[in-house]
Amino acid sequence: MGEFDVIKQFFTRPTPNAVLGVGDDCALLQPAPGMQIAISSDMLVSGRHFFADTDPCALGHKALAVNLSDLAACGARPLAFTLALALPQADPLWLAPFSKGLLALADAHACELIGGDTTQGPLNICITVFGEVPPGRALLRSGAQPGDDIYVSGTLGDANLALLHLLREREGTTSAHGTLPSDDLAWARARLERPTARVALGLALRGIVSAAADVSDGLLGDLGHILERSGVAATIEVDAAQSLMRCATSARAAGADVLASVLAGGDDYELVFTAAPAQRAAVAAAGQRSDTTVTRIGRIDAPSNTRADRHPALRLVDADGTPVPNRYASFDHFSP
Ligand code: ADP
Ligand code: MG
Repeated sequence: MGEFDVIKQFFTRPTPNAVLGVGDDCALLQPAPGMQIAISSDMLVSGRHFFADTDPCALGHKALAVNLSDLAACGARPLAFTLALALPQADPLWLAPFSKGLLALADAHACELIGGDTTQGPLNICITVFGEVPPGRALLRSGAQPGDDIYVSGTLGDANLALLHLLREREGTTSAHGTLPSDDLAWARARLERPTARVALGLALRGIVSAAADVSDGLLGDLGHILERSGVAATIEVDAAQSLMRCATSARAAGADVLASVLAGGDDYELVFTAAPAQRAAVAAAGQRSDTTVTRIGRIDAPSNTRADRHPALRLVDADGTPVPNRYASFDHFSP
């Protein structure tokens, strides 16, 4: 099939939100009066972000979910997205489930596919999402204050557990480690392959939080961005953080480094955010309203002057407040 058949058959849909969708040189969006447009892009590269033989339906879901997660982190309501797609070949047996997974999530969030680009090349999926947010209401990374609580939504580390399992399986080294019970593994794999964007929570947190980011590259790294943009430091209780891994018990039994996966694993697509202690009830209510668990895992500190280790502004402590060495680094595509 040709380029335009691919677009017509798999990526053209009615777009009531947009003034003009797929088929012209540009799509047209009409923002609601007075609203700001939130924009974010995320690219998924075969062999880098996913295995080439990943279930295309899950891949379609994930490609949009990771972008919706950025809107969630800003407290923006999804409106529309574009899809730039490089494909090795126009294979309907791959395209049909890919577009099904993609468009099912798009429908669930009323986020319309309004355009894109389709080209031959190594499999690469780049989505740009557009959302709306009232002026001054976007959640930013820059507002965390000393004394604020630090929260994380949902669960952390299970996606990384699944990734490590899949990598070992591919290397044929499963026997070196214990394996997870199959129901835990299935759950962890779903976290990796079909992440949940916390859009409803992001919307519910407008006006409550002082700073927010989504956890895509690992908690310490993404919280680190908040600390840097806010000019503050933080203390994380490692026991509270470890309690966020749902498969922690079986992971430990299998010899996994639970803390490493929780703090630095990545692929979680949860929200990490800060709020003043006076907002504790409001944060809990926002979690309930959006049907999302939120867990307090630490607090924001005044910036310190010591720049000794990898995360100079981030201290880890155990339940008694005793410092725990921080040997964890989040994912960085260009780190040596
Ligand atoms: P142009 O050459 O003007 O950039 P194209 O011929 O590449 O436009 O695309 C034709 C139309 O199809 C445009 O409206 C474009 O936005 C849309 N389109 C192309 N690829 C995709 C895709 N993967 N998903 C959705 N829309 C697409
Ligand atoms: Mg084009």
